[in-house]
Amino acid sequence: MVSAGEPPLIELRAIRKRYGGKDKPEVEVLHGIDLAIRAGEFIAIVGTSGSGKSTLMHLLGCLDRPSSGSYRFAGEDVSTFGADELAWLRRKAFGFVFQGYHLIATESARENVEVPAIYAGLPQDERARRAISLLGRLGLSDKLDNRPNQLSGGQQQRVSIARALMNGGHIILADEPTGALDFRSGAEVMALLRELADTGHTVILITHDRDVAAQARRVVEIRDGRIVADNPTDTGIHRQPDEHKPSLHSQQSSLDIAQAREDAGTPFWTGLREAIRAAWRVMWIHRVRTSLTLLGIVIGVASVIIMLAIGEGTKQQVIDQMGSLGTTVMYMSSDIPPTGGPNGVITEEDLDAIARLPEISQVMPVIGDPLLVRHGNVDKQIYVFASPYIMPVIHHWRVAQGRFFTDREDRELAPVVVLGHQIARGFFPHRPDPVGQYLLIGTAPFEVIGVMAERGAESGSQDYDEMIFIPYRAGRARVYQAQEQPDYVVMEAASIDQVQAAEAAVRVLLLERHGGREDFRIGNAAAKLKAQMETRDTMTRMLGLVAAVSLLVGGIGVMNVMLMTVKERTREIGIRMATGAREYDILNQFLIEAMLVTIVGGTVGVVLGLTVGALLIFWEVPVIFSFSVMIGAFACAVVTGLVFGYMPARTAARLDPVVALSSE
Ligand code: ADP
Ligand code: MG
Repeated sequence: MVSAGEPPLIELRAIRKRYGGKDKPEVEVLHGIDLAIRAGEFIAIVGTSGSGKSTLMHLLGCLDRPSSGSYRFAGEDVSTFGADELAWLRRKAFGFVFQGYHLIATESARENVEVPAIYAGLPQDERARRAISLLGRLGLSDKLDNRPNQLSGGQQQRVSIARALMNGGHIILADEPTGALDFRSGAEVMALLRELADTGHTVILITHDRDVAAQARRVVEIRDGRIVADNPTDTGIHRQPDEHKPSLHSQQSSLDIAQAREDAGTPFWTGLREAIRAAWRVMWIHRVRTSLTLLGIVIGVASVIIMLAIGEGTKQQVIDQMGSLGTTVMYMSSDIPPTGGPNGVITEEDLDAIARLPEISQVMPVIGDPLLVRHGNVDKQIYVFASPYIMPVIHHWRVAQGRFFTDREDRELAPVVVLGHQIARGFFPHRPDPVGQYLLIGTAPFEVIGVMAERGAESGSQDYDEMIFIPYRAGRARVYQAQEQPDYVVMEAASIDQVQAAEAAVRVLLLERHGGREDFRIGNAAAKLKAQMETRDTMTRMLGLVAAVSLLVGGIGVMNVMLMTVKERTREIGIRMATGAREYDILNQFLIEAMLVTIVGGTVGVVLGLTVGALLIFWEVPVIFSFSVMIGAFACAVVTGLVFGYMPARTAARLDPVVALSSE
């Protein structure tokens, strides 16, 4: 026992507790309680229902603060303690046993017993070992993995006693521990408490039942918020602590109140791991609800990824097309002027004048028509493309076999022809190299001098593979005799920045040459493609916005489900606080839960996005995935979880332990 000089373990002086105030009428429940409890005492506080026992117990256990009066714990004034220091006291000094057991419904017996040790920062294996040994000593070795609803009342109460002992249980605070139990289980629990008292634990038993109270060594009677009697009992005289009994009291560390201010509580990683484990458990239990909530996040993340991938893919496709067409290319053809009158004629002299413009680097007149082409006894209708020698340069095209014709051949009206890839195949299926063969175009024979490389589907202009190419002048002289001007003229600007200027210069020049009549038309492939690209960009942005909104909706879903969770689990929060969780631990737990929901949602979203994207590729939709978009969408989802989870988590952390514990 304690020497007379040492202060009592617990010393209450003139403690008053008032409820209400503000808008509710104020009631005083405790009217000046003076009570000293020494270490190792087994004391019962007895009183009728409503006399203020539970209120007193909440004050003793630092779950609540008195309205006035002083509470000294081991000589220290508890009113100077902050929330975290009170949590330390609850964690280190007290073990609560409640009438309603107050076990966490989603956790197993062993996990429930471990909870106080998590907040005390005990390593995982040590924690499990201690929980298993405590439950073993309380006769629950075979119930370690049972959930509370798989245990009888007596068993649940024993689990809660094991939990109270987990961190040492210097002071066991038992509020009506037998109240909900049948006679036999009640007797068992009382025997356990007696045993604890015998082995040095301070036991404070709260009961309305005088027979139960009589089993303690000191009985304090409370009536209407005042202590009316305080007597030792017979039991107390007869039963002295028996040091030789096999004990429940194990490795009881000394309680150094000075530590309260330094103890950091749960180490970060332990806290994180436990919070993730608990969050995962809760998510799994509510998996339907969780997956519905997740849907918003999943769709949000997946659509962001898909939309941007399609946007990027089509953009790249347009860029590729521009590359193969040449971004500097313009088209011109004669036309009926808007003011009426005959169709214009673009003459050789017009072309020469255009070619001399500094803004223009190349001019290529083109005549093309489907004509009958014959080789041996095969004849086909083929598009015959007549142009100067610069065609492969302007179209960024390569000759696969043989060569293209030269400027000189053009000027000398040489009857030579270069075949498109498909045509070479069609006319000469058994001849890998058709160079040197002859074709009859219309009535004129032409010698094959080359085969163009396959243009293919990549440029979106595969019909180029189905043409043949002859020199412009030879074409006009031998095939297109009736043609008095080119079908159209391809012009190349000197540089990309000069396309607009070149177009304007050509327009001015031709207007001048054609006597002010706009009997021609100039088209700009690059401009058209650019405009097309810009509308696609706008569309991508719009779709991205829609996706972002669905993420937001997902976030609100997370907030909703978290608010629901906090409401449903208010009592669990109270239990965690009673076993020593700090506000920070609770905040952390619920934030991590919200984040876990979004991390799972984000992951599923990324996978879904990739899957749908892969299907689109299969259907030949141009899709380019961006890693940074994936990371970005995922991060957005997690941040959404943090932002929208914060409010519910803070609500949980700020709960008053007493209110939380008494919630249904
Ligand atoms: P006991 O545990 O002895 O049955 P309690 O300590 O629970 O009694 O309650 C004592 C009195 O205080 C009761 O009259 C009860 O109505 C009142 N009381 C308890 N908690 C509150 C509260 N949060 N607000 C207002 N009154 C309360
Ligand atoms: Mg009560």
